[in-house]
Formats: sequence, structure tokens, C-alpha cells
Amino acid sequence: QLTVEDVQTWFTKFTKKIKENKGYLSDLDTPIGDGDHGNNMARGVNAYEESFEQKQPETISDTFQVFSMAMISKVGGASGPLYGSALMNMVKETKGIETIDSYEQLGSIIEQGLAGIKKRGKTEFEDKTMVDVWEPVAQSLKEGKLIKDQIEKAKEHTKDLIAKKGRASYLGERSKGHIDPGAASSALFFDALVEVIG
Ligand code: ADP
Ligand code: MG
Ligand code: MG
Repeated sequence: QLTVEDVQTWFTKFTKKIKENKGYLSDLDTPIGDGDHGNNMARGVNAYEESFEQKQPETISDTFQVFSMAMISKVGGASGPLYGSALMNMVKETKGIETIDSYEQLGSIIEQGLAGIKKRGKTEFEDKTMVDVWEPVAQSLKEGKLIKDQIEKAKEHTKDLIAKKGRASYLGERSKGHIDPGAASSALFFDALVEVIG
């Protein structure tokens, strides 16, 4: 069972991971993008922390809302509105609920987030984007488990793919052999979740 405090712990852990991995994420974005993904994400999580400190959200849905607004307004870059859409769908999916009670329910919430990214980005599975992490994670949760190894594998798999969306797609075949930065930040997002659900 996840309470509002657990969801907030999830985001606090994610914030910490983004700050620690800022350089790594921007480095991943250098060969196949413009080298700013770590900085973009760090701006987002800093904005989340600031709004959180100003007014602590009281429900799960409102916590997603604060996070979504921070990503949309502060990240810039392709990833901001994509994370923002995911989180916005998660706001809707959790309206009025006090706790998340099962893996299946959590899986459905993540699945709605995934649908937001796919719609906003016009993205499919294996286009070498964050979708390649979100989709298997949603699937695993719905099947009743999630471990870091699965997340790591999903992230690593983006290395083998040719980018079809975003800046990396300009490189065509040459995008192969590199991990997608958005898949890497999404892996941190779900690693933080695994640490909370145990
Ligand atoms: P920008 O490319 O504008 O500099 P970022 O570097 O912050 O933005 O984010 C790049 C990441 O965004 C990519 O690694 C990829 O995961 C994700 N991304 C880009 N375009 C799409 C899309 N259409 N659908 C899903 N994800 C995308
Ligand atoms: Mg970039
Ligand atoms: Mg950029």
C-alpha cells in the first residue's frame, strides 16, 4: 500500500537521484542530442522541491499535480511536456483516492502516464525514448512485481534501437549504440519507486 507520504518519498528520492546523476544524464544526451537532459531534469526537480516547500500537497493526486506543473513550467526541452503529460494523466487517475492499494492499481496509474507520453509525443514502443522504460514497467506492475533489474534491462535495451523520435532521430542509424537519456531518467524515476514499494 502506498500512502501520500510514500508518494512524496518516491519523488524526494527521485529528486536526489536526478541531482546526483545530472552530469551522467547530460553526458548521455551529448552524442545523440544537445547535452542538456540532466540540466533540464534538475531544473524540474528543483522547481518541484520549491513548490513542495511552499505548500505541501495533501493528497496523492495533488502531489502528482505539483510535480507535473514543475516539469511543464521549468524543464524546457522535449522531456518537460512529456513528463508533464504523464504526470497530468496520473493526477486524473488518482483523483479522490487516499492510498494506492495494489501493484495492479499502481500499474494502471503508470499505464495512464505512459498513454500521456505516447499521445503527446506520438511515440510507439521501441522508438528509443522514455516510452521504452515506461511501457515494460507498467506491464510488470500490472503482473504484480517490479524489480530494478527489469528497469535496468529496459533502459539498456534502448542502446540497440534506432531513434525514431526527438533529436536523436536526426542521427538515424548512428543513434544506435547509445542509451537514450530520457529512458535513463525514467529508470531513475522507477528505481526510486522500487525503493519505496520495497
Ligand atoms: P531536448 O531533446 O529538447 O533537448 P531533453 O534532452 O530534455 O530535451 O530530453 C530528451 C529526451 O526526451 C529523449 O532522450 C527522449 O527520451 C525524450 N523524447 C524526445 N522526443 C520524444 C517523443 N516524441 N516521445 C517520447 N519521448 C521523447
Ligand atoms: Mg537534450
Ligand atoms: Mg535541449
